[in-house]
Amino acid sequence: MATTMSSTSITHGEKPVKTTVVKSKKKFIVKMVIPFSLRCGGCERRTDKGDRICGLKEEIGKDSTFDVEIYRFTFTCLCCRNTFSIISDPGRYDYVLESGATLVPKKF
Ligand SMILES: [Zn+2]
Repeated sequence: MATTMSSTSITHGEKPVKTTVVKSKKKFIVKMVIPFSLRCGGCERRTDKGDRICGLKEEIGKDSTFDVEIYRFTFTCLCCRNTFSIISDPGRYDYVLESGATLVPKKF
């Protein structure tokens, strides 16, 4: 006897349920070199370029042109526990300050 598949009855007028694949956001704790000098928004503490701080790295999306993941790095201020975050910008090969701190202008 041939194996009989249990026929899935296709009812007309029933739309297939859209399956939206929700990627589980991976989060890592990383130690990262700060790419620019910034000043904490809470206590004005200055973090210089090149300082190494532990932060939380998470994937927030994908760059459409370069097909590279965009990451957000969230750091906690060592003084006042204020959080500030930077995101990677694959188009400019750089990082962009997102929130929680202000940039310290470069001195030439
Ligand atoms: Zn602070």
